[in-house]
Amino acid sequence: MTNKEVSMEVREQHNTIHWFRKGLRFHDNPSLLHALRTSHHVYPVFVMDLDFMKDFKIRSGANQWRFVIECLQDLDTRLRAYGLRLFVARGNAEAFFAEHFRKWNITQLTHDVETEHYHRFRDAAVRKIAVDEGVEVVNYVAHTLYNIDKIIEYNGGSAPLTYRQFQKVLKDFGAPPQASETATAEHFASCSVPLEALRDERYNMVTLEELGMRCEHPSKFVGGETEGLRRVEKHLQNQGWVTQFEKPKTAPTSLLPSTTGLSPYFSFGCLSVRHFYHRLDKIYAKAKNHSLPPVSLQGQLLWREFFYVAAAQTPNFVVMAGNPICLQIPWYENREHLRRWRNAETGFPWIDAIMSQLQKEGWVHHLARHAVACFLTRGDLWISWEEGQKVFEELLLDADYSVNAGNWMWLSGSAFYHQYTRIFCPVRFGKRTDPDGTFIRAYLPVLKDFPAQYIYEPWKAPLDVQEAAGCIVGMDYPFPMVDHEIVSQQNLELMREIREQQRQITLLTLEGRDDESSTSTEGGGRKRKRPVHPDNDDEIVKVVVTMAL
Ligand code: FAD
Repeated sequence: MTNKEVSMEVREQHNTIHWFRKGLRFHDNPSLLHALRTSHHVYPVFVMDLDFMKDFKIRSGANQWRFVIECLQDLDTRLRAYGLRLFVARGNAEAFFAEHFRKWNITQLTHDVETEHYHRFRDAAVRKIAVDEGVEVVNYVAHTLYNIDKIIEYNGGSAPLTYRQFQKVLKDFGAPPQASETATAEHFASCSVPLEALRDERYNMVTLEELGMRCEHPSKFVGGETEGLRRVEKHLQNQGWVTQFEKPKTAPTSLLPSTTGLSPYFSFGCLSVRHFYHRLDKIYAKAKNHSLPPVSLQGQLLWREFFYVAAAQTPNFVVMAGNPICLQIPWYENREHLRRWRNAETGFPWIDAIMSQLQKEGWVHHLARHAVACFLTRGDLWISWEEGQKVFEELLLDADYSVNAGNWMWLSGSAFYHQYTRIFCPVRFGKRTDPDGTFIRAYLPVLKDFPAQYIYEPWKAPLDVQEAAGCIVGMDYPFPMVDHEIVSQQNLELMREIREQQRQITLLTLEGRDDESSTSTEGGGRKRKRPVHPDNDDEIVKVVVTMAL
């Protein structure tokens, strides 16, 4: 059903459950709008199914839960303003629906389309229960710019696996659909929740205490649609910044996000990507010139879309085994190295400062993610990207199934990325944009009094300098856990051999000539020539299809 058809809908008198999963918003929420337009009773529900998360190994740390709870509180406040409320259910989703379809005399279930395999699995199970109970199920695409399944179908049943090829496909689709209108007082006017349910305390808001969690640090990202929209408006006021935005020119060492910092809001759907995309369009239309994908702001949203498409179509996308686009690399297993990386104890201040920012705040700049991901995998420690992905999934506020796995495969040289000979230096990378080490001082206070000359390499400081800084390397801060020059060279050789052995797989995701990634410039706007591969995209598609069969 199109958004236009939603607004044409004739009012039916349904009792509807609107199931919030992501899509935690009133703007551009066509399935919520449909519920409001066709029902006299609407029960907005969020199901907290911790066993489901455990079964599908979905990790979520305290900072992320705090963000989600804030999103739910924001939603609840907004719903209450219109006489409804959010019902936060605990336990198994299927059991909840089986019980409540009857208990609330439900005739319709509405929800967003989600593309992750676990959502599809659960949605199919709930749909079956609905069908058995005679409940109509209505859903709309709103978490992505396009209907992901249609892109795959149009591309002959496979996902375009290079950005260039993806752009070619999108050309035929045209601009993404417009955002649907925001749910307002008018839409809520003829909907209510029976008083008894409205007062039922069993569905009250979840708290961190209930989850047995505690956040150690104050939040820099308050969750919720209200805050997300406020942030968007603030960014859009700066039209020069918006039109000239080029991702590789943004600084990973900035203490405030030098990019939009909107990712947590997009991940949980407090913000609609279509809303943002079309607001950007309006600003671009007024400007003499503007940056273009892949480095522009719209280009960033397309990266997100690109990974959603790849994840929806690729079996075992979040693991190496059985993943047809992923190089099969014999990574080392080293729990102690992994622990030191996670806990910001590598002995490389730039890497540790980023991991400390991740632990405390749950958001780090894209190029900083590059640095720590490369360090963990192909650069220094040769530990599997799956381990890094798990840590990010738990600690990032914006943790996203498709985007996280896609970027980890990219950065580890396992898929998509082919400038694998370029290993980020854990000393020089950060220095470029922050020679004084302000970022390190902020996130690693133990090093804050080191002179700039040694802040990236404190182990090189003479003892009297270390004493004056109040930090003795080896006692107060660790020595580097590896010799970067040596291990990066060894790893590079290893990677060369593996890629040669598995050339067929790397062809699958080979980047084409004009596919410069938003992600591939180290630390600043340095322009580089990309290698050109002799194969053309059509050949690559053929390989993908064969592999998929
Ligand atoms: P902006 O540059 O302002 O971009 C706007 C939006 O575009 C972002 O909010 C995001 O939704 C999207 N976007 C930007 N860059 C990318 C990208 N490379 N791939 C896909 N979408 C992108 N992003 C997540 O949202 N969730 C994750 O779990 C995640 N894991 C990552 C893991 C690794 C190893 C790396 C290298 C990157 C990861 N990213 C992830 C992508 C990217 O780093 C973040 O989206 C971005 O830094 C968020 O900051 P921003 O909102 O200021 O981005």
